[in-house]
Amino acid sequence: TKIAIYNVSPVEVPYIDDWASKNQVEVKTTDQPLTSENVSLAEGCSSVSLKPLGPIDEEVVYQKLNEYGVKCMGLRIVGFNTINFDWAKKYDLLVTNVPVYSPRAIAEMTVTQAMYLLRKIGVFRYRMDHDHDFTWPGELISNEIYNLTVGLIGVGHIGSAVAEIFSAMGAKVIAYDVAYNPEFEPFLTYTDFDTVLKEADIVSLHTPLFPSTENMIGEKQFKEMKNSAYLINCARGELVDTQALIKALEDGEIAGAGLDTLAGESSYFGHTGLSDSEIPDDYKTLAKMPNVVITPHSAFYTETSIRNMVQICLNDQLTIAKGGRPRSIVSR
Ligand code: NAD
Repeated sequence: TKIAIYNVSPVEVPYIDDWASKNQVEVKTTDQPLTSENVSLAEGCSSVSLKPLGPIDEEVVYQKLNEYGVKCMGLRIVGFNTINFDWAKKYDLLVTNVPVYSPRAIAEMTVTQAMYLLRKIGVFRYRMDHDHDFTWPGELISNEIYNLTVGLIGVGHIGSAVAEIFSAMGAKVIAYDVAYNPEFEPFLTYTDFDTVLKEADIVSLHTPLFPSTENMIGEKQFKEMKNSAYLINCARGELVDTQALIKALEDGEIAGAGLDTLAGESSYFGHTGLSDSEIPDDYKTLAKMPNVVITPHSAFYTETSIRNMVQICLNDQLTIAKGGRPRSIVSR
């Protein structure tokens, strides 16, 4: 078996090498995206593995893969909107992805942001840096997690991992989900959306972005939340109405926010060397607030995630080469 691996980043190399030697598979790697210029790397391979940043929009690429005997395009990521499925079908190419790679990575970032906010680290830091004030006034007293209620909106792979960690820390965990899953009952109590908003000291979002979940947290929901509550969004920026969030923070409707995702983030998260005018005003406004912590969609970025994205994808390619059924087929 031979596999051509495109878009290889340096952090992936040790995991690719480790997998290839354990499985006795020959891999051919490049840091470049798959195009008509370098599709020939896949000659004699049974699969290509990809982590595309933009669309694979040249029909000749799909045609050549078929001519070379490639059976599958294996995405090492969740998203698959870069693939032209008409051409994949026309040239008999299966497409796989890695929909779940390490829920724990995002869950740990959620807990980290929540604890940072609860202990008011940003506010202390601001006072030390700006005012040389090293005191601990009454309004900065914290509560310990076993006294607090964590409210989750959406309990799938990530939400349930968050529930496990917070319940192990002694918090009361309540949750709302459109689907009931009895497996998670040891770590949480299911309730309705409004009760989560009203009772939680930390409200954390873990639903996908759908038309039904877009802006699910807006002016009305901020008013329902406790003034002392924190909102954490490590899911998708568009779940939250950003202008309403800024207003809720300015008006003291909520105590602070932890954000790993922001609406419209793709123009700046993941980029460097941007000019000031390329950074949106809503980001600048939020980033200035000491009771807000922002990370650039880096919650997923752990060694375990990268290893799993690589190795789950490659395992699927090996399974396909051996005539078996891969873990995650996106489309035929
Ligand atoms: P999942 O599919 O396992 O779970 C999602 C849950 O949301 C399901 O239980 C579903 O029933 C529930 N849900 C759907 N619509 C709902 C609604 N209207 N109200 C309440 N619950 C609803 O997904 P997951 O793997 O846990 O991922 C959750 C979110 O995390 C996704 O938005 C994903 O994009 C995001 N994510 C972020 C990062 C990051 O680095 N920040 C990384 C991976 C995933």
